[in-house]
Amino acid sequence: MNSSAANPNTPQLSVVVPAYNEEEVISEFHQRLSAVLDQIPNSEIIYVNDGSNDGTLELLTGFRDADQRIAIVDLSRNFGKELATTAGLDHSRGDAVVLIDADLQDPPELIPKMLLEWQKGFDVVYMQRSRRDGESALKKFTAWGFYRVLNKLSSVDIPANVGDFRILSRRVVDVLCQLRERNRFMKGLFAWIGFSQKSMSYQRDARFAGDTKWNYLALWNLAVEGITSFSVSPLKLASYIGFFTAAGAFFYGFWVILKTVLFGEPVPGYPTLMVVILFLGGMQLMALGVIGEYLGRMFIETKQRPLYLLNQHYPSHTATERSNENPPQ
Ligand code: UDP
Ligand code: MG
Repeated sequence: MNSSAANPNTPQLSVVVPAYNEEEVISEFHQRLSAVLDQIPNSEIIYVNDGSNDGTLELLTGFRDADQRIAIVDLSRNFGKELATTAGLDHSRGDAVVLIDADLQDPPELIPKMLLEWQKGFDVVYMQRSRRDGESALKKFTAWGFYRVLNKLSSVDIPANVGDFRILSRRVVDVLCQLRERNRFMKGLFAWIGFSQKSMSYQRDARFAGDTKWNYLALWNLAVEGITSFSVSPLKLASYIGFFTAAGAFFYGFWVILKTVLFGEPVPGYPTLMVVILFLGGMQLMALGVIGEYLGRMFIETKQRPLYLLNQHYPSHTATERSNENPPQ
């Protein structure tokens, strides 16, 4: 059974919300989320301020002053959504944890339904969008292509059209918190951990206000991250291509020599030479680039830096009272 039955101080549900420059939507979001959580006793909200440079943090501290259930994790700078989410998970205490975006694309009203599924015994209930509103055809197409390539290349099955909106059981959160890789591709990690997972479909709304923080360059980087974190196939591909070009070059060279010996060589052969040189040069650069992607990631991992730095942690008021009652040993 879940531990909240045993220990009334542990919140049953934690909701982790990463927020970066969301001053336009966060108030509306907070209102809707609080209304939902009012029906769920013993819940907490953990807002992670991911180095916003607008009024997001002031709004969040305002919410916290008015509501016992709120904790704020304020990061020292913008670390990106994946690390902000990790910081929130690290500070969550609930038996179940919901991850949700602050921009109201994921309706908070679905949380009670997700909670019901979790109570049935699923470790992860992930929300699969049946519709992507407010996104361009190009974004939909690139997303589709990305999932196809990723699932072909990697050994874990990463479901398409699934964001971070999901509920996780405590043991899954504990496992995720143990995975301290710096190059974090959360969607891949969620799939990698396994356990009993269930999908629920929902309609993803358009952003309530403000702009998406992802541009195509950021999405490209995310795609490279996803592929290199979960597959070494590009390295293998590079060596296969190298092998076949080398084999082709060998036979072609043999043919050129044979032809010259048998028939002589009337034309200097500049075009063939150029083509071969450019082709091989291009292949080599590409293979080097692929190796570089992996090497760069190894470089970052070997530094063993902390994943994120805290500016300040504002625990929820209920947690503060409790820690005064029982000071840590
Ligand atoms: N976010 C964040 N750090 C970032 C970028 C985004 O914490 O560097 C948060 C953002 O505030 C929002 C969520 O991640 O709550 C999703 O961001 P966004 O809506 O820009 O992404 P999209 O929905 O377009 O994938
Ligand atoms: Mg969004």
